[in-house]
Amino acid sequence: MAHQQFPHLFAKLNLGPFELPNRVVMGSMHTGLEEVKGGHERLAAYYGERAKGGVGLIITGGISPNFAGRVSPFSAQLSWAWQVKHHALVTEAVHAYGGKIVMQILHAGRYAFHPLCVAPSRLKAPINKFTPFSLGGFGIGKTIRDFTNCARLARKAGYDGVEIMGSEGYLLHQFVAPRTNRRKDEFGGSFVNRIRLPLEIVRKIRAACGPDFLLIYRLSLLDLVENGMQWEETIQFARALERVGVHVLNSGIGWHESRIPTIATMVPRAAFTEATRRIRSEIKIPVIAVNRINMPEVAEAVLARGDADLVSLARPMLADPEWTRKAWTGRRDEINTCIACNQACLDQIFEGKVATCLVNPRAANETLIPNTRAKKSRRVAVVGAGPAGLACAVEAARLGHSVTLYEGRSDIGGQFDLARRIPGKEEFVETIRYFRTQISLLGITLRLNHSVTADELLAPASAFEAVIVAAGVRPRVIPLLAEARARGDSRVVAYDELLLGKVKPGSRVAVIGAGGIGFDVATFLLAPADHSLSLTPAGFFKHWGIRYEARGGVEGIKPEAQGSGRKVYLLQRKDEKLGIRLGKTTGWIHRKMLADQGVTMMAGVTYGAYASAGLEITRGGKSDVLDVDQIVICAGQESENRLFSELTARGAPVFIIGGAAEAGELDAKRAISQGVHLAAELENRLK
Ligand code: FAD
Ligand code: NAP
Ligand code: SF4
Repeated sequence: MAHQQFPHLFAKLNLGPFELPNRVVMGSMHTGLEEVKGGHERLAAYYGERAKGGVGLIITGGISPNFAGRVSPFSAQLSWAWQVKHHALVTEAVHAYGGKIVMQILHAGRYAFHPLCVAPSRLKAPINKFTPFSLGGFGIGKTIRDFTNCARLARKAGYDGVEIMGSEGYLLHQFVAPRTNRRKDEFGGSFVNRIRLPLEIVRKIRAACGPDFLLIYRLSLLDLVENGMQWEETIQFARALERVGVHVLNSGIGWHESRIPTIATMVPRAAFTEATRRIRSEIKIPVIAVNRINMPEVAEAVLARGDADLVSLARPMLADPEWTRKAWTGRRDEINTCIACNQACLDQIFEGKVATCLVNPRAANETLIPNTRAKKSRRVAVVGAGPAGLACAVEAARLGHSVTLYEGRSDIGGQFDLARRIPGKEEFVETIRYFRTQISLLGITLRLNHSVTADELLAPASAFEAVIVAAGVRPRVIPLLAEARARGDSRVVAYDELLLGKVKPGSRVAVIGAGGIGFDVATFLLAPADHSLSLTPAGFFKHWGIRYEARGGVEGIKPEAQGSGRKVYLLQRKDEKLGIRLGKTTGWIHRKMLADQGVTMMAGVTYGAYASAGLEITRGGKSDVLDVDQIVICAGQESENRLFSELTARGAPVFIIGGAAEAGELDAKRAISQGVHLAAELENRLK
């Protein structure tokens, strides 16, 4: 019988070699565990938990078929028989829960970050410092053999199939696209020649592994770079892949070097599934839709519209391993939603760390963070319902403690409740919804509008065995703001006053402080009044200049940056490029969006008075006056730690986490992680 709420999501699907119980695919994601000591044991726990959570099919992070193809010198490679037993740990863990898992084979080509990288032609990628060697005839033959050997070993390790990575600008994509293929031999030039290598690899793998071994090809449907693929070519290539025995076509959007966001939080949900709908109508094999599909109703709508046969959720599976089971059992509100921030997953990979998840620090750390119920339930008070306090309260209650959560404001969320008001960060509301649901399910006593004092916490009647101070931060009041307040000048405001709607935005605004919040406030000021670009694909496509019919999806199209028309100045004292400390994978998007909308960015500024003519500044020894009618102060924060000091002085069993503990470089990743870790260790720390 069809599932009542999500009938398309929970319909079975026969892929040929086997049948899937539902349409949910965990998309490929590199975690970094592939390379660390004991990583396969941790990977087994990580994938096992997702299989237990009911996902139909798992695709592993990319594994290289040879040394040249490694993303970096120490990245994972599968080429030798002795490696099979490590991978078998992973496949056994997944099969133990009745799950299916395929291994992705990824050859990075010119994206390999080492001097021995290879590519169809000797053309350096703009995001790599190494220039690749051009593969000769022998090198191409060896690459084909290495792919085949890798697939054969994957089969031995118990994988149910392989996915061949042919998108995002990696080696096979580099062969197919004219942008990177300038060869004159039978692997370059005409379209038929350019697709020869991937087709040959598919044929050889199919012959070596047999028809009952699932073969997925990840094909780029929108390159989002100049001189990429033309849509007609993509159709022809998809048909050719079908003919040579590919069972399922997965989709890819954009090259890593393209300057259009494809998965960040400002990308509308399911923004690119029109691409899968278009290709699906041209072929018979099932098609997987990707990118920014993070909730069951979004996935259901994609499938119901006929845009795809399956949906791929990569980061959402980091955020909640039980995503599928929760959707299946009608517990959609319990899902810990991926907010597409990239902060703990992709950004950490780019920093050479193991990936995890901002909203779920247990992800990829399943074996490291204690997860056992407390032997003795404790009465715990948590002060502050920002990300740190919420995470700690929920985790402590889940592990069996009795928790009272105090919040001075009328609602939960703390500074995250400000973040969700930024156009492009609408997703953040889901995290607040998740915590709200958990508070109710776990029976946490929530006291809103209650700025709790030390006296109350220590009163004998409260009988708290531990107090956790998660009182967060308050915006820093710099002299410019203090002086304006003293003289009753409401033109100088703190960022929270603006975001909470206590003051109206001016028409010519100087934003002081260009950290994450300064950038967000500038975005808030510039957003079009009637819509957010993040909510509908049409506005987003127009803003970034994307059209399916254009070569590469972009060539010859003029992007139309849309905005409020306000004049915004973004200022900082440091003499360095603005925004260079923003997230590794998203900072460029914030910088580009503001630049496209004409924000004047100034570094090395010394602030003077705010006189009637405007804000006086000095820069490079020169004085200037900015003609502005409002100044928004985004000059960092200070810890709210007075309660902690008082409780400590009075000898209470007290802990401090999040911004209350340390305001410098605070973000929700650190706040939530500290909350979860403290709750998990609470029993031991109270011994
Ligand atoms: P807070 O969020 O400050 O929460 C503390 C809570 O404690 C508050 O609700 C306060 O009312 C309450 N409280 C204080 N004293 C008491 C008391 N005595 N009794 C009861 N309650 C009390 N971070 C990211 O990681 N990624 C982002 O993209 C991001 N974007 C942001 C955008 C904006 C516009 C802003 C303002 C912040 C953003 N942040 C972002 C930062 C993130 O929101 C903070 O790092 C995070 O909220 C800090 O969490 P916290 O729990 O330590 O403190
Ligand atoms: P921040 O990143 O530390 O930036 C504070 C800014 O204020 C800096 O540009 C600093 O630059 C300026 N400043 C500091 N003291 C000042 C003073 N006395 N007078 C004038 N200017 C001063 O902090 P934030 O922007 O408030 O953000 C807080 C945290 O939230 C950050 O750590 C960030 O990680 C997180 N956040 C993250 C995101 C995200 O997208 N990932 C978005 C928003 C917030 P100068 O000293 O050079 O002037
Ligand atoms: Fe999603 Fe952010 Fe978690 Fe990555 S860190 S999985 S983007 S919520």
